Amino acid sequence: MLPEQCDVVIVGAGNAAMCAALAAREHGANVVVLERAPQHEAGGNTRFTAGAIRCAYNGVEDLRELMPDLTEEEIARSDFGAYTEEQFFDDMARLTENRANPDLVELLVRRSRESMMWLRSNGFRFAPIYGRQAFKVDGRFKFWGGLTVEARGGGPGMVEAHMKAAAKNNIRVFYEARAMSLLHDDNGVHGVTVRYRGKTRALASKSVVLAAGGFESNPEWRTRYLGPGWDLAKVRGTRFNTGDGIRMALDAGASPCGNWSGCHAVGWDRNAPEYGDPNVGDGFQKHSYPFGIMINANGDRFIDEGADFRNYTYAKYGAMILRQPGQFAWQIFDAKVTHLLRDEYRIREVTRVKADTLEDLVARLDDVDAEKALATIHDYNAAVHTEIEFNPNVKDGRRTYGLQVPKSNWANIIDTPPFEAYAVSCGITFTFGGLRINNDAQVMDTDGVPIPGLYAAGELVGGLFYFNYPGGTGLMSGVVFGRIAGGSAGKAAISKR
Ligand SMILES: Cc1cc2nc3c(=O)[nH]c(=O)nc-3n(C[C@H](O)[C@H](O)[C@H](O)COP(=O)(O)OP(=O)(O)OC[C@H]3O[C@@H](n4cnc5c(N)ncnc54)[C@H](O)[C@@H]3O)c2cc1C
Repeated sequence: MLPEQCDVVIVGAGNAAMCAALAAREHGANVVVLERAPQHEAGGNTRFTAGAIRCAYNGVEDLRELMPDLTEEEIARSDFGAYTEEQFFDDMARLTENRANPDLVELLVRRSRESMMWLRSNGFRFAPIYGRQAFKVDGRFKFWGGLTVEARGGGPGMVEAHMKAAAKNNIRVFYEARAMSLLHDDNGVHGVTVRYRGKTRALASKSVVLAAGGFESNPEWRTRYLGPGWDLAKVRGTRFNTGDGIRMALDAGASPCGNWSGCHAVGWDRNAPEYGDPNVGDGFQKHSYPFGIMINANGDRFIDEGADFRNYTYAKYGAMILRQPGQFAWQIFDAKVTHLLRDEYRIREVTRVKADTLEDLVARLDDVDAEKALATIHDYNAAVHTEIEFNPNVKDGRRTYGLQVPKSNWANIIDTPPFEAYAVSCGITFTFGGLRINNDAQVMDTDGVPIPGLYAAGELVGGLFYFNYPGGTGLMSGVVFGRIAGGSAGKAAISKR
């Protein structure tokens, strides 16, 4: 039975929400979690992730503390390097073009490691991302791109760990319970209106934490805020993140914040469905483009595929693909690099063509000017300088010269059959714009004053990401700010008892 009242209502049951629920419980608050999706579709975007989490660490000893089951043999065959807080700060500044709110970044970075340890103390288990973030060179795995750790079991494993921790801590989760609006007056927020299994009613609380995701699954808002054409993007994850949490808060006087015209969007299989398919998870993404080239319908390259490690380019390249004629591109590889392609290139649902000659390959690229595509590949091949050694583990500087669209790293001549090509479109992951919060994750109103009783965490917080995003930061932000929001909400609720 959904109660009439509680200390803290949490809206959503993804990673940020469940971290908030745990933190509120730690303060002794009784917590009710409202999740819009039915149980079999719950878990939000969190469920669709690979569970990769970006956190600072100073070397293998820090990792050993987080993952005590790392074996000596694993340590011996891996170069984990370090990802210091300074590197994390640099990445956030560089990728967001110095727009990210420094207070939020400070919390995100400085609390990243301790928040991982907090998750661990709550039953979460982690492992190195051997499959995606390290290539074996001379018998050793070298990690690159600042992304080294994943939750065991990926996104589904993370959701399962959250649900176990919730059950252990007497946190009640109600599914098919859609928060519709905030109960608020001049003294702040006092609960929510919720539609639970078809019936709308009030649920009173001392605090509310909004963690209901962004507006990526709302084509009308996408077009309104991201711009024309974004209605045509495919949604990579849950169909339930339609901006409810943001709308409810704005209706209660909250201040919008951040990059409302920006989002995280990637190359995603051209024939993927409208929303994420939980059975495929993130398998529709196609992130090995640094080792090949991308060609559009006109047969042209349009992007520097090797500008940086994929962690630092993938989140903005979806938008570039959306801008191409027909909103698609083909990624092309030759046999020299197919062993480097990530697992997602081998799923059953992939849109792929193969051929033994480049002439045959371009003829098989649906909706592409084949003659121009062939000329583009020849021009590209002629521009590659091969005197620099190819090395997938570092930005090797093996580049093209003289092309209008350069390739800055990992440029290989495409000459070894069989050739493979993969059709991609734009898949939106989450939106960057959202609500303004302070360092206690309180939602601020349009006069710059905290709204009493209202907190926010996760995708619907604005001000952290602009233009681009370092891979693995979404989950980390959910943990850090979910924990802060839940802690603040729990403490405030208890003080009002
Ligand atoms: C395919 C894919 C792969 C990804 N891979 C990674 C990765 O490896 N690492 C990483 O860091 N990030 C990754 N991300 C991004 C990551 O998923 C998000 O940043 C993060 O999970 C967001 O967490 P959240 O709790 O804010 O939102 P969600 O996990 O989306 O949770 C929001 C929840 O709110 C619910 N909800 C919505 N409206 C209401 C309402 N009115 N009432 C009640 N409930 C409501 C939704 O149903 C949903 O369950 C990936 C995303 C996708 C889609």
